[in-house]
Amino acid sequence: MARHNRIVLLGPPGSGKGTQGAILAQNMGVHEISAGDLLRTEVKTGSNLGKEIAECINAGHLVSTDLIVRLMTQAFLAPENENGFISDGFPRSIEQAEIFEKVQQQTEFTGKKVDLVLLIDVPDSYILERILGRFQCPSCGTFYHDKFKPTKVAGVCDICGGKEFAKRADDTEETVVSRLRVYREATAPLIPYYEKQGLLVRVDGTGSIDAVSEKIKEIVGY
Ligand code: AMP
Repeated sequence: MARHNRIVLLGPPGSGKGTQGAILAQNMGVHEISAGDLLRTEVKTGSNLGKEIAECINAGHLVSTDLIVRLMTQAFLAPENENGFISDGFPRSIEQAEIFEKVQQQTEFTGKKVDLVLLIDVPDSYILERILGRFQCPSCGTFYHDKFKPTKVAGVCDICGGKEFAKRADDTEETVVSRLRVYREATAPLIPYYEKQGLLVRVDGTGSIDAVSEKIKEIVGY
């Protein structure tokens, strides 16, 4: 049993939350719950709500607190997440954290409160290169990076052999600038917020994927 089972990943866009969250979740035998993925799933349905969400995502703005708290809380309490979860991208503001704090005081969350907030620390100078170089195989969902994690054979997915790749619509220079501003203004205040609660641990996210995941392993203790 790991020392921590309910973990929030915090960090700027491009810090590796998705990559490290997936590795961590697999090693701990729990699911990574990505706020961005839940929203992108709604966008794909083409619903009116999906269209509103897409506008926010493509502008690099946050979607409404009510919506994201509802989606994430539902996922945290789903039977398949009974033994723990990794939350990637939620909470993303003090307002979300305060509402989530109240939600966690409800009886359904007894024994299921977040027990670690892991801040993946990466200086701004890394972020643009990391985000602009990333791409995904839409068939199996595997993420790659032109420089840091290329496919083994050029143009072929290592996992499923797919030959078509896609980039996220919001991984453009213009949107990244806006996402970074939102991170600094809305999300970074969560660092002192969770520090005061004694939940925050920092990990240096500038090394290779393996080096960072080793450091996280030591912290989480699995
Ligand atoms: P991500 O996949 O975490 O980079 O998130 C992509 C986009 O989804 C963000 O830029 C926001 O527009 C939206 N989003 C993700 N998480 C949240 C959240 N906790 N609150 C509000 N909007 C979010």
